[in-house]
Amino acid sequence: NEIDMRRFAGSMLQQFQQQARAKQITLFTEATDEPIILYASLNHLTVVFRNVLDNALKYTPEGGSVTWSISSGVEGVTSILEDTGLGIESENLPHLFERFFRVDKARSRQVPGTGLGLALVQSIVSAYGGSISIESEGLHHGTTVTIFWPYGEACEQAEIT
Ligand code: ATP
Ligand code: MG
Repeated sequence: NEIDMRRFAGSMLQQFQQQARAKQITLFTEATDEPIILYASLNHLTVVFRNVLDNALKYTPEGGSVTWSISSGVEGVTSILEDTGLGIESENLPHLFERFFRVDKARSRQVPGTGLGLALVQSIVSAYGGSISIESEGLHHGTTVTIFWPYGEACEQAEIT
């Protein structure tokens, strides 16, 4: 399917605005005025961005902020999602994409989750030939999730495992 990434981001934000307001988190977006067109399954795109937005809001305490910027390059779209939340210690960064992995089970106990979100996100993104990377300066220093998604064409048949 042909997807206008700016419109898609707008509808995602609308869906998450309530969750953000409930926690007094400010949700910012930055994108170009030009339409950004992707060829992808709307379902796949939705699963990916719903998971990373959900994480940013879940792991950011009240009063924080989440900034989502989308830019178009030669081969695809780069999405950078930056939060001011809990952050992730460097020793945990290599494990984020493992199924059922959650940082510090005790700490995460107050925040519900299964630890499957990012594993699924990574399989979808790589099925499209894209990439995801997660950076953090450490505990309480926030987290930045960068996703590169190629413009693609007829990628719907991409196998998701
Ligand atoms: P699920 O997404 O299945 O509901 P989950 O959010 O725990 O559960 P993932 O989305 O795979 O699972 O994330 C794995 C772990 O990475 C989380 O449990 C959390 O510890 C850490 N994490 C992910 N995103 C962030 C973030 N933005 N800030 C801080 N920690 C994060
Ligand atoms: Mg999650």
